[in-house]
Amino acid sequence: ENSVFYQPTKAIVNLEAIRTNINSLRNYLALETKIIAVVKADGYGNGEVEVARTALEAGVEMISVATPDEAVRLRRAGISGDILVMGPSPISFAKEAAASGITIAVSNVEWLQNVEDACKDLQKQLKIHVKIDTGMGRIGLRDEEALQSLVTFVNKSKHVVIDGVFTHFACADEENSQRTEEQFALFMKLVDTMPEKPRLVHAANSAAALLYPDFALDAVRFGIALYGIAPSEYVGGRIPLRLERSFSLVSELTYVKRLSSGNRISYGGTYETTEEEWIGTIPIGYADGLRRSLRGQEVLIAGERIPIVGTICMDQCMVRLPREMPIGENVTLIGRQGDEEITMEEWATRLGTIPYEIAVSISKRVPRFFK
Ligand code: PLP
Repeated sequence: ENSVFYQPTKAIVNLEAIRTNINSLRNYLALETKIIAVVKADGYGNGEVEVARTALEAGVEMISVATPDEAVRLRRAGISGDILVMGPSPISFAKEAAASGITIAVSNVEWLQNVEDACKDLQKQLKIHVKIDTGMGRIGLRDEEALQSLVTFVNKSKHVVIDGVFTHFACADEENSQRTEEQFALFMKLVDTMPEKPRLVHAANSAAALLYPDFALDAVRFGIALYGIAPSEYVGGRIPLRLERSFSLVSELTYVKRLSSGNRISYGGTYETTEEEWIGTIPIGYADGLRRSLRGQEVLIAGERIPIVGTICMDQCMVRLPREMPIGENVTLIGRQGDEEITMEEWATRLGTIPYEIAVSISKRVPRFFK
């Protein structure tokens, strides 16, 4: 890379951890179950191209993304493996999808009819995975009749082939298994009505792959766990394999000062020193994804937990140091230093959200470094 970065705030992405997680999952699953690596939302913040490449090298069957544009970006970056767009695609994407060998999810026969009308000149066949809604209530066809008319249409079409059929669980990360079992049963019932079983029948996300290995079918769609994060606390407490975290967020102290008692820190002056204190400044703020409401969150410096004090600014924040520390000292905002670790789950708990949302909210301004 020719780029020079002067800003010490950066994300370190450990691609080896992703490779290890794929291998661990593969050893856990039945021999015939394939892995679809979910790299939507810039690989959950890790870098879509690098994660896709790593996953394909590690032998996954397919890459999946949420949107057509994500798939096109991967193709243009030279990712040549199979790519599935799991979310909805506009009719206008069908031609490009067929030409680039991108597989798309289709949720109703009308969409396909429109594609046939609009793209009489499709050069190559369009590969689709039929999306079935068994209880997520988002996209997908919901009954046997809709499925039959789609299959009948495809069988008559020269332009479209069914490569897979899938559904998505709404509650697989929860303790109560009833809804997941109901969704699975409905999915199997509908798939069984298809005259020909498609090549890839898949349902499980990370939580389901880990908790319900019997529901793994031909392939599992492995997202959050690829990056070493448990889908929920409940799943985290019972996963039978060790996952390695791929993402850390680091920076450095850029300014250190000693203040006497009674000095205010940051916007609003809401923090005031109560004794002689060492205050450090870190060049990361809410424009980087260090959400303003993370005020009070700790960071790691010299292997110790150090609190952020005062309002988090757009580009910088302040911490209360236990003693004088040098400029340039390493700061870990997410990740490990010695025995201490700050996880996305810790941020998520403080913010009242889930680690998924943290993973995808470290902004583009933070450069990703890969190891
Ligand atoms: N499949 C679909 C359709 C999804 O939308 C997602 C992401 O939410 C996944 C699989 C991956 O889920 P997870 O990250 O929980 O493994």
